[in-house]
Amino acid sequence: MRELIGTCKSCDKEIYCLDGFFNGVITEEKENYCFECYEKLAKKDENPQS
Ligand SMILES: [Zn+2]
Repeated sequence: MRELIGTCKSCDKEIYCLDGFFNGVITEEKENYCFECYEKLAKKDENPQS
């Protein structure tokens, strides 16, 4: 079973819930991101642009 949750705020990739497994991330602000973009955001937070 596959349920469309939304699209990635960063790259517009569709994010699904697959048999209870969510292939993306929803932030506290209710923004959807795929894993790739969420990882990039997390890394950016750890290493601010110099
Ligand atoms: Zn993305």
